[in-house]
Amino acid sequence: MNIKKILENIDPFTQCRKHNLKARECPGFLFILMGLLTLLAMSGTYLLAEEYYNPEVVVGSVSFVAIAIFVLGNFIIRGVEKMAETAILKNEFISIVSHQLKSPLTNFKWPLELLATQKLGALNEKQLSYLKDLQENNNRMIKLVNDLLDVSRIEDGRMKIKPQNIHFEEIARSVVDDFLNLAKANNIEISLNVNGNAPLIKADPERIRSVVQNLVDNAIKYSKAKGKIEIILKREKNKFCFKIKDNGVGIPKKQQKQIFKKFFRSENVLKRQTEGTGLGLFIVKAIIQGSGGKIGFNSEENKGTTFWFSLPIAKS
Ligand code: ADP
Repeated sequence: MNIKKILENIDPFTQCRKHNLKARECPGFLFILMGLLTLLAMSGTYLLAEEYYNPEVVVGSVSFVAIAIFVLGNFIIRGVEKMAETAILKNEFISIVSHQLKSPLTNFKWPLELLATQKLGALNEKQLSYLKDLQENNNRMIKLVNDLLDVSRIEDGRMKIKPQNIHFEEIARSVVDDFLNLAKANNIEISLNVNGNAPLIKADPERIRSVVQNLVDNAIKYSKAKGKIEIILKREKNKFCFKIKDNGVGIPKKQQKQIFKKFFRSENVLKRQTEGTGLGLFIVKAIIQGSGGKIGFNSEENKGTTFWFSLPIAKS
């Protein structure tokens, strides 16, 4: 950690500046003030008690300190409430904007696809190439809006997960099939192996599909030339494990703690300028944990990364 980071961690005003709070509303600062006041009051009371041997003086000073702590405590509560209110407003804002953007973007999808089929008239190569760019950008925007909606649902506890008994192996195979062309185009090999018989697991099929899509997409995106991706499914006691190993760019050790935080992207991938929003793993973790599973990874920069998750096996 560099000095700037350490100072930022010590500075009680860092969070308050972000939330635009004044000193009298800043919980971190008020908390320190309260601590100092308590220390001062303890020493003052000790000195007064020694000097005067007078219970009224001691009771008076203790009452004064109690009132001061009560007032400061009230300010702290108001500051915390204001911070929580800002977070709720921000979340509502993201949710409203994303909802408003979703319909026009989804409406663009079908006309663009219809044009691309050329049923409405033949297009020349340049027109087709512009159309492809439009489609790609539109799909990217739809994904971003859907991810933002998921993030806002996760943050205020509205994300719905509907577990049922599912054939996880089938889902994993169909996702891998969907990515085969992209992998081939990037000169990347993907393999999927199942150790033993794959049992049914209890999870939401759509949500789990999106988890696998995200992890496979990342493994491809962060692979180097001639990449190799291995997916292994195996049973471990009453859990079923999914493991995806790549030999790509890896995650720098000092940034590994932040990998599941929303909007986080490691500096080595930012340098490569691959596209991304840093929302995928935040959502993936929330889905796995919301399905009663566990998720983790290990990674070495320039060697590769293995992400894994486990989910409960369905009771027969
Ligand atoms: P995005 O891929 O859109 O940036 P994610 O939340 O999926 O968002 O991933 C967050 C970050 O984690 C990525 O930006 C990248 O720094 C790192 N990461 C995820 N998967 C891998 C991987 N397989 N190899 C290396 N880095 C990865």
